Amino acid sequence: MLRRLISQLCIIIVVALCFGLLFNAVSLNFYLGIAFGILIQFAVFRAFSYGLEVYATLKNKQLENERIKEFSYQGLAVECPCSKKIKDFVPVKLNSSNYYKCKECSKTVGIVLAAETALVTEPITNTATGDVEAIFNKLVEQQVKQKAS
Ligand SMILES: [Zn+2]
Repeated sequence: MLRRLISQLCIIIVVALCFGLLFNAVSLNFYLGIAFGILIQFAVFRAFSYGLEVYATLKNKQLENERIKEFSYQGLAVECPCSKKIKDFVPVKLNSSNYYKCKECSKTVGIVLAAETALVTEPITNTATGDVEAIFNKLVEQQVKQKAS
């Protein structure tokens, strides 16, 4: 820490001296050159740290956007069809073709998404109490409803 500080101070002094000598060479004030050199270095440092800050902010924003994009994907646990049967968790999109690269065999594997449909059934109540008569009445009620419609 202290070594770094000393080396930075040395650099500032050397560069300032160079500016002083340069100013002296073109018949200007030596001390004015040193002051100018120090000011220039601070200005450059400020500009550099500001640029770094802006870069970090932009990078963070970009990473956040990528993360949000990842969240819009659905993940799926898949198995590579190669002999090693490597399992992986990959993001899938429902509105486009999905591919991923196997970690082991490094082959590109396509993912086939198949949709199935099923009717939603209404559960019969009172089954927990084992009330057979209630179940029978419910079934009769449903049949009557079906015949009526
Ligand atoms: Zn594989």
